[in-house]
This record gives sequence, C-alpha cells and structure tokens, in this order.
Amino acid sequence: MTVVRPPWVAADGDAAQGARDEAFMRRALALGDEALGTTWPNPSVGAVVVRETTNGPAIVGEGVTQPGGRPHGEPVALDHAGDAAVGATLYVTLEPCAHRSVRGATPCVERTFLAGVRRAVIAIEDPNRHIAGLGVALLRSMGVSVTTGVLRGDAARSHRGHFSRVRRGRPMVTLKIARTADNYCAGPGGARLQISCGEASREVHLLRAHHDAIMVGVGTVLADDPQLTVRLEGLEHRSPVRVVLDSRLRTPTDSALFRTARAAPVWIVAAEDAPVHAEHALRGAGAEVMRVGRGGDGALDLKEALELLATRGITRVFSEGGPVVGEQLALRDLVDVMVVSTSVKRLDAPGVVAIRDGLAERLAAPGVFTLRAMQVHGDDTFEIFERPV
Ligand SMILES: [Zn+2]
Repeated sequence: MTVVRPPWVAADGDAAQGARDEAFMRRALALGDEALGTTWPNPSVGAVVVRETTNGPAIVGEGVTQPGGRPHGEPVALDHAGDAAVGATLYVTLEPCAHRSVRGATPCVERTFLAGVRRAVIAIEDPNRHIAGLGVALLRSMGVSVTTGVLRGDAARSHRGHFSRVRRGRPMVTLKIARTADNYCAGPGGARLQISCGEASREVHLLRAHHDAIMVGVGTVLADDPQLTVRLEGLEHRSPVRVVLDSRLRTPTDSALFRTARAAPVWIVAAEDAPVHAEHALRGAGAEVMRVGRGGDGALDLKEALELLATRGITRVFSEGGPVVGEQLALRDLVDVMVVSTSVKRLDAPGVVAIRDGLAERLAAPGVFTLRAMQVHGDDTFEIFERPV
C-alpha cells in the first residue's frame, strides 16, 4: 500500500527539520568561534552529536578543534558521545577531513563512519585541496546521509581566516582603530592618549584572544611600549603571537614585548637590508626575525609579510598598528574586517588623525565594506565593517 501524504505535511516536516538543523549548527558554530585563535594552523571546527530520544532530539556529544589544531572537533565530539553516536546525527561547521595527515590520525570521515553516525550535517565545504568535496563524497559512499549548506554564511565568516590562507595564501586581517570623538588616536606630537574605557579595553582583549597574531608597526612599540598580551581573567593563556613590522629593526631589546616573552612569541618582520647586528641582538632577546622585501614606496611589502605569516600557519591577524599601517593595509586591499571604536571623549587639539583620508575613502567606497554591527561597550561605540567573505 502506498501512503500518500498531503504536501503540507511534508513541507511542515522539512521546515521543522530545517529549523532543528539550524539550531544545532548554531551551537556547533558557537563552539568553533569560541576557540578561534587557538587552533592555527588548522581551522577551528565545532561539532555536535545529536540523538533522537523519547523527548525529542538531544545533544549527546560536543567537541571543538583542540589547541594547536589536533585532534579535530569531530573525534572530540564523537568520543564524548561514545556509544550514543550510533545512529546519531553529526553537526559539523566544516567539511570533515578525508586524508591521513603526516601524523597519521584517522581521517574524520572514517571516524564518523566507524562511530556509527547515520547522518552528517555540514555547514560548508573545505577549500583545502586535500578535502574540497572529497569528505562529503566519501561519507555518502560509506552510506552516511549528508546535508550541506546549513548556516553556510555564518560558517564562511567563522572560517574566514582558514579560507583566506587556503585561497589567497595570506591570513585574514582585522584592523582595529580606537579614536576620540573628533577622530584622533594620539595627542599632539604623538602623545599617548587613554582613549578607550575599561569595558572597551576588555572587548579589545577578547578580540585579541580570538586571533592567531597581533600585528603592530614599530612606531607603536617605540611610542607606547605595549605588551600586546591578553590580560583577561581566565584567558591569559590565549595571548596570540606578537608581530612587529620593523623594516630597520629598531625594536628595543628591553621593550615590554620581551619582558612578557613567556606569554607569547615575538616575531619581527624586517626588510632584507636591515642591519644584521640588530637581528642578532633581537634574537638574543628572544625574538624570531624574518625578512621580506620592500614595496615600491620603500616601506615593508605588507602583502609579502602577510604571506610569510601564512606559511607559518597564521590564519587570523589582528592589526593594532598605528594609523599609517592601517591605511597602508587598507589601500593595498589587505583588510577584511575593520573594528572602529569611538570614544565620547574629545581631544580638541591637533593630534594624530586616526582615520586618515585614504582609509576613510576606502571605507566609504561603494561595494567594499559594509557595516555589519554596532556595539556599545561602556562609553565607547564599536562599528564593525566587513568585506564580503
Ligand atoms: Zn578532521
């Protein structure tokens, strides 16, 4: 006997399934987003194992890529679920890997199949040439039902650093600018200003913790002697690599970066012609010194510097350098996300302009950046601009 269901029943069922898939994928994305900045060179992948119970679907396992990139999120979630994974659905924010790595870990598609998972819901395909559709194809060939594209846009944003490194050979760059209400980032003659309030500073530290590297120009080191670490309770271990763009190797060996060298590595990117004795001194202080060419204007070739960071596994860079580095990055189309925090305070004096004309024009140019969010942190307003992923 053939059961004919009226079309609205099927439609309702599909809608309910779709809403449920999105809810569990949202949880997986939240897990992945939380670990951003800790998993490079690998993407931060969230995974959730869901099983039908008499009370409806329930989460029986959760996981995320572990610090340093291994194990991946899927085996962590499947191990957490144990036998409950048999017949379950696996929600994962990125296509599972299909290839055996150098270290010989079992590929996630194989782990998924062996765990007895019946259905896999994948947010987005992995452009990595070793995977790129193979993960989905292998799962299907093993008899696992696969749904792709659930919250694809959010997943693309979450994996933006990984995608950028794979597709463009450079990390994604978030440019952060803090300014007074009248658009200054420093006082007359470059005098340091306390612009951001406590709440805004905490937010900035949280943003730092979710990137692989913090990047500044040597001018910022010379003017402010910053530590560039994460100083939030419970997140102190999440200080990213500190990168200084320093063409002539002027970073002082007694700067705060070195006094906190145990918190996170210090990498200095210099020009090929920077003095060798300065390199020796900085290496002695604990820095790693890398060299890139100069661009047409004589300044460091920023694209080459970013590509160098990508070869070292960096996927997400948080640029806190001064207004000059920020503008140079933007004019070379090397900024993907811009965070502008504006204080209620005014300088009311001719200081250092935060958003210079070139950067302002880039921000206002049609079809380049869109304002994605506005947030209030204490006395400061954050505007978050993004380029399309
Ligand atoms: Zn994997």
